[in-house]
Amino acid sequence: MAFDLNKLVRENIRLLVPYSSARGEFGGKARIFLDANENSFGSPLARNYNRYPDPRQATVKKSVAELKGTDPAGLFIGNGSDEAIDLLFRIFCRPQIDNVLICPPTYGMYEVAAAINDVPVRRAALTSKFELDVDAVKSAVDANTKLIFICSPNNPSGNLLDRERIRQILNFFDGLVVLDEAYIDFAGVRSMISEIGDHPNLVVLQTFSKAWGLAGLRVGLAFAETGIIDLFNRTKPPYNVSQVAQELVLEALQNQPRVCQMIAEIVRQRNVLANGLKSLSFVSTVYPSDANFLLVRLIDANSVYRFLLSDEIVVRNRSNVALCEGCLRITIGTQEENQSLLSALEKYEKGFVR
Ligand SMILES: *Cc1c(COP(=O)(O)O)cnc(C)c1O
Repeated sequence: MAFDLNKLVRENIRLLVPYSSARGEFGGKARIFLDANENSFGSPLARNYNRYPDPRQATVKKSVAELKGTDPAGLFIGNGSDEAIDLLFRIFCRPQIDNVLICPPTYGMYEVAAAINDVPVRRAALTSKFELDVDAVKSAVDANTKLIFICSPNNPSGNLLDRERIRQILNFFDGLVVLDEAYIDFAGVRSMISEIGDHPNLVVLQTFSKAWGLAGLRVGLAFAETGIIDLFNRTKPPYNVSQVAQELVLEALQNQPRVCQMIAEIVRQRNVLANGLKSLSFVSTVYPSDANFLLVRLIDANSVYRFLLSDEIVVRNRSNVALCEGCLRITIGTQEENQSLLSALEKYEKGFVR
């Protein structure tokens, strides 16, 4: 058994003749563009967006690759990492035949993307300490398992998963291991992007939606060996990242110090909020977090959730999720927001004790 990309990819994708867009076909310099049926007069805006964006995203890719210390040929940029997740299904999973494995409790999108693509989902639950159960993963996969999704730091538990276990899975599995690092910037450890050279079956997902504060732009990243990225490029919609998104990501990349500042402040606030929560009598566990949120177990999560809503504070109710029974997931806010949350919870506590 060994990793073989040609055997892994769906035949229709292997044989696909990609759409050849006007902007994709013509990459040179020209004086007049009459090839793409755009509106040559401009846009009804202060800035013009009448031209299709670069389908290869060459300029942004160069900057992102520089930041991450990778080769642009090993980088896919998508309309959020959700697009990368969906493309993985479309490239590798034959509907109703192949399957994927997830390690719950985890990010809900893997399962939704599987359902949309009509691909069965297998499960190997995390342990009660939210760690990977490698034996459970090994016994849950079969010859038709194409993708294993691993989220680290994991959403909703917040913890980094043990790297040695991730490597064990990479080593035994012939399909792709999709490592979702959406929260890696809060974890204070290196990305596993640097291990793609050792593990050709590793796909690392990252995003501009969390630490970079650009969720509204919809820009996600996938890092993998170039054969896998070529498949992404052939399969994606040609203009999947808008001109606005490409321009603003480039601009944001010029201001990395601000991102580092925000990360440091979020991590500081994470500790403040965790300590505040721990002092409440109805909070039983604040799980350690390597991300920008806390998973919190409470005596009556549903009643706290409703109380907060009545005070116009929205958190994520995870109390119906296996292994997260009685838990809320709380995003770290600004100092003022966290203080308001704690004040509301103290109000709840007074009513609760009385
Ligand atoms: C928020 C999040 C993402 C980001 O998705 P985008 O589509 O890039 O906004 C990806 N994975 C996980 C686990 C997340 O929590």
